[in-house]
Amino acid sequence: MPLHRSTKIVATLGPASSTEAQIVALAQAGVNVFRLNASHGTQPEHALRYARIRAAEDRLGRPIGVLLDLQGPKLRVGTFAYGPVDLGIGDSFRLDLDRRPGDRKRVALPHPEVFASLEPGHDLLLNDGRIRLRVLACGADFAETEVIAGGTLSDRKGVNVPGTALALTALSEKDRSDLAFGLELGVDWIGLSFVQRPEDIEEARALIGDRAHVMTKIEKPAALPTLDRIIELSDAVMVARGDLGVELPPEDVPGLQKRIIRLSRAMGKPVIVATQMLESMIAEPTPTRAEASDVANAVYDGADAVMLSAESASGRYPVEAVAMMNRIVHKVERDPLYRRIMDAEHPHPEATAPDALTAAARQIAETISAAGIVTFTTTGSTTLRAARERPTVPILGLSARRETARRLSLAWGVHAVWTDDVQNFSEMVGRAASAATAAGIGRTGQPLVVTAGVPFGTPGMTNSLRVVTIDAEDEPPAAPAGAARQTETV
Ligand code: PGA
Ligand code: MN
Repeated sequence: MPLHRSTKIVATLGPASSTEAQIVALAQAGVNVFRLNASHGTQPEHALRYARIRAAEDRLGRPIGVLLDLQGPKLRVGTFAYGPVDLGIGDSFRLDLDRRPGDRKRVALPHPEVFASLEPGHDLLLNDGRIRLRVLACGADFAETEVIAGGTLSDRKGVNVPGTALALTALSEKDRSDLAFGLELGVDWIGLSFVQRPEDIEEARALIGDRAHVMTKIEKPAALPTLDRIIELSDAVMVARGDLGVELPPEDVPGLQKRIIRLSRAMGKPVIVATQMLESMIAEPTPTRAEASDVANAVYDGADAVMLSAESASGRYPVEAVAMMNRIVHKVERDPLYRRIMDAEHPHPEATAPDALTAAARQIAETISAAGIVTFTTTGSTTLRAARERPTVPILGLSARRETARRLSLAWGVHAVWTDDVQNFSEMVGRAASAATAAGIGRTGQPLVVTAGVPFGTPGMTNSLRVVTIDAEDEPPAAPAGAARQTETV
């Protein structure tokens, strides 16, 4: 029987991973959710990738999620007249709203909002934090700075203003265009970058409606004071350690990662750990031991998913990176210590009937060694509550809505299945049992614990729990010789 993997894998697509064959190979290696990064590439390129992901999904016969990650209000300097400039420690350097090309003394920073928020003593970080400028004097359209950490600065490099809540709009013009494009395509999540306040999510949600789920990237220190509310308003969360680690000292990131995971798990929101997980696999076929440890630690923290960025988008070993993540995750999940950690951090059920039933389902499933917990769901919310329990047995998330099955592909422990609608309990049991056997999760004679809302088809109504046994007739017919049977349970 194939091994069930609870922690999911997200992989970013890019120039190194966009052919049909590459996308299928990545999915077969274990990718559950593909990420399209709007910061790179054109809309037609992403549309082509999207079509190929859906083709791979049909071919593999399991739901695959797609995340469109918006660039967000990323700040950038303008261009330079004579190529890159070298900034040395102690040099003075001016930033202003003058659109003319820059030189060794100044460059444009075409974002009035930044100057509106700056004060003497503030630091600006350029080029992924390599260059640090300290503000000596500033006004509505300029800042005079001193170089604290030097380096080479070239056209359109990124700027971070740590610790300062900027009066930036949550979505730039480009973001709005990419958002409309992504919703038209049918992506499952919209990734919101550089979220600073709860209102940023509300603003995006007003545009998105229920056409996609909202994934909030935590990468600004300004978001931390309202972290609880921000997570509460989100459908899923990403610990975006790249920008977070530029805006905060590196030593602050690990503890914050644990805090964000813990909060997200307590609220039952899927949480991804992202960026530089297997960074050296961009160029090498194996990771460093520290990177393997980083992936493993995210799994030990109970994250729903671990993510690849440049490793899969532009590196030399995309499939190897996914296979490596898959092996690390499997190894951790079989460690008895992992189970002890999950149980020790088990969140309490909330005082609702669905949560009480879900907690009971976990207990029963573990007591009788059930093959799995089956949840039949319209919106996915019941299944996410089951994932919040972090049970020892797989969760089958069955939905008649294709987008729900796709969104569940990110959730910890969930084997998502898109199935026909069911009218009654016995139909549902049959559907669940055959999905369990098809996935290699259960065999004839094994028990399943089933939760459902009766009457059927009423969302958010989980009110019953049953223990059923898989019948021989639920076993799917043997596949014709040579046919690709879907047996992986990722
Ligand atoms: P990015 O987000 O790759 O879009 O910058 C992730 C991060 O900052 O870690
Ligand atoms: Mn980022």
